[in-house]
Amino acid sequence: MSTIPRMFPAGVTYGATLPTDGGCACAAAARAASLATPPAPPAADGLFGPYGGQYVPEHIKPVLDELAATFERYHADPDFLAELEYYLTRYSGRQTPLFLCANLTARLGGAKIYLKREDLNHLGAHKVNNTIGQILLAKRMGKKKVIAETGAGQHGVATAATAALMGMQCTIHMGAEDMERQKLNVFRMRMMGAEVVPAMSGQRTLKEAVDEALAAWLGDAENTFYLLGSAVGPHPYPRIVRHFQSVIGREARAQMLEAEGRLPDCAVACVGGGSNAIGLFAEFIPDASVRLIGVEPAGRGLTYGDHAATLCMGTPGVMHGFHSYMLKDEAGEPAAVYSISAGLDYPGVGPEHSHLKDIGRAEYASVTDAEALDAFFTLSRTEGIIPALESSHALAHAMKLAPAMGRDAIILVNLSGRGDKDVAQVEEMVSAGLVTPPSL
Ligand SMILES: *Cc1c(COP(=O)(O)O)cnc(C)c1O
Repeated sequence: MSTIPRMFPAGVTYGATLPTDGGCACAAAARAASLATPPAPPAADGLFGPYGGQYVPEHIKPVLDELAATFERYHADPDFLAELEYYLTRYSGRQTPLFLCANLTARLGGAKIYLKREDLNHLGAHKVNNTIGQILLAKRMGKKKVIAETGAGQHGVATAATAALMGMQCTIHMGAEDMERQKLNVFRMRMMGAEVVPAMSGQRTLKEAVDEALAAWLGDAENTFYLLGSAVGPHPYPRIVRHFQSVIGREARAQMLEAEGRLPDCAVACVGGGSNAIGLFAEFIPDASVRLIGVEPAGRGLTYGDHAATLCMGTPGVMHGFHSYMLKDEAGEPAAVYSISAGLDYPGVGPEHSHLKDIGRAEYASVTDAEALDAFFTLSRTEGIIPALESSHALAHAMKLAPAMGRDAIILVNLSGRGDKDVAQVEEMVSAGLVTPPSL
């Protein structure tokens, strides 16, 4: 396998903040300037530039500090790494392949499109990379129970599975409304031994589930581990989730060098909370030649309530214990958000993405429901791979970029999950005449 030296241009420090252009796609000038930036791993204090941190009540800090200390102690420990590797390999089936979409590439007539096949993980998405990692930390901390919240149920299912695997008690908090909409995921979690607790207050969706899960956790923090599902929340969670998801980029970088003898021109991933994207990006941040592109859901369009394009449309603020870009309503509370894909409709985003946007090291674009659906059908038809609706956003953006790039160019797309979970939803839309599959 060939290796290519990384570029570490001297200049501004990684933490320096460049002025932003305020739009979705960061200005090329800002990008070029920021590339003169020696990257560094995220700070141990949990700050990514001005973002991240711990905006939590005093009494929660010691619990988070204990978790941070455990992570620092074990994340590079050989026994811990051996155990992590064992489960990633034998349980989840890593490493996941890198696949060249020859048919799709030929059809678009431009850059080669490669997929990092995170959809081939156990449970059908990247989420298990993180749940395995965190549950091994929980074991090291002597915890007997794990607790998590879930919206659409994907994180709940991954948490329930890894808890079953490790013989730990598992409680999943889920909005009563979401439980009704996601009956099969509730059944899956219960099959794997989890207790699913309905959140009955307020809108009875994810926000209420988070509140109730936090309350339950703090009621018994001594025995309970809070397993967070994305690169969000107070320090140290964004750092921990980034670490466990960075296996995606590490594998993809090496696989790309083996397949092509060079790095991709673009690395593209969808952004909900931002865990699969940061997992892909982390390993490429030092590679100044690789454009990092996060794709957010533009839903029905970029008007209030119709999308969840946090980095494209939001402003910095504090939510759920951390400082980052967020979408707010008029009262400054988390905005109502919408996307066709349940995994992307979150009004906040991981703090490192906010920093990468400000310094111009990553760009963020948005893709509508209709464009994502088109990519969903196109990949199914051209390659026989049904992508998750979340991942379809990343693919849709790659499909926009590819034709304008030369045939030597390479786009790497993170296929964060498989679309089996979405097939019934799309079938209903097609039957109701709301969507017409493109004639292929
Ligand atoms: C949950 C989920 C996402 C969104 O979460 P991130 O933390 O932004 O990665 C994306 N794709 C799939 C398949 C998911 O299940």
